[in-house]
Amino acid sequence: MQAFNNGIRAPFKIFYGHDPNKLHRWRIKLDCGSVEECLTYGEPPNKCPMRDTLTGVPLPLGQRLCKSHAAGPAPYRTIDDWLERSEVIFPPDPVEPKYDLAPGIWQLMRKDYERTVAYWTVKLSCSHQTKVVTDLGWRPGDEPRTTAERQREMLEENEADRLLNPEPDVEEQMIRDHLRRMLNDGWPSPSPEAQCSTCSYARWIVGYQSLDWLVPRPKPPNPRPPKRELLTNRLNKLEADAAELRRELEQLP
Ligand SMILES: [Zn+2]
Ligand SMILES: [Zn+2]
Repeated sequence: MQAFNNGIRAPFKIFYGHDPNKLHRWRIKLDCGSVEECLTYGEPPNKCPMRDTLTGVPLPLGQRLCKSHAAGPAPYRTIDDWLERSEVIFPPDPVEPKYDLAPGIWQLMRKDYERTVAYWTVKLSCSHQTKVVTDLGWRPGDEPRTTAERQREMLEENEADRLLNPEPDVEEQMIRDHLRRMLNDGWPSPSPEAQCSTCSYARWIVGYQSLDWLVPRPKPPNPRPPKRELLTNRLNKLEADAAELRRELEQLP
């Protein structure tokens, strides 16, 4: 039995809480090209609900988390639905920029005072969920607030950043596209879109192949031969016995 690095033996790690006799093995292909094995309770992998291990929220049927590829940048998705609201107290932002933001952008976004905000669970256009923050008084259906002054500042910052880095990588380009949409809309608050970390590692199943039950099932006993075959065998034996008896009779004096 092979042990993992953390000392947990493989069967316990994989099957804890599951009955191995009910698990079926599948080979699946994901749209990123990865080929992996997975276990279900017999249903095809694209009908087996999976959870996003980060958010705990079920993934759309047919999606799985790819174990082979590192997560890419989290794309921006439109917010389709505002689901749950709670209130959270945030301490003042640090002076040093967070989230790898440029110091100029951080200075514009930074709040140097403690504040209470609304913390929303939202459903995105990709069907995944994430959390976003809004002003306390904002409710779904309210017009987003826009600030002409802030828009102008962000526009200048965005332009300066574009000039400083004329060849952005994929992630940088994605952020710029988001900023451009925000600027075109007057820098609305709350933003109509949010980054989806689940999209950066969830992949669609594009093919699957049944392997076997994890614990192979006993083969069914050979089926009984058909009745005609049984009767023919019996008749052949009786005829052979009869021929033998006739030979013995002929040999009697
Ligand atoms: Zn992959
Ligand atoms: Zn998503």
